[in-house]
Amino acid sequence: MADIIDQAQELTQFSCENQINRARAAAKEFGHGYCLNCGVSLAPTHSYCDADCRDDHSKRERMRGIKITGYDQ
Ligand SMILES: [Zn+2]
Repeated sequence: MADIIDQAQELTQFSCENQINRARAAAKEFGHGYCLNCGVSLAPTHSYCDADCRDDHSKRERMRGIKITGYDQ
């Protein structure tokens, strides 16, 4: 019986992660309407002011990912 419950939990978790990833991808595709790095208002189709803001933000995201991974282990 526990196996069925475990499988249901795994399926639910997989489904949630899949939906989150799809929502993130959609948000990237359509932009946020503000700069993800400095917060300045932009056209709804944009997520960054310029390449510098995009690079800064992606560096921070990578560092955050490294810290989270290190913390979990
Ligand atoms: Zn910016």
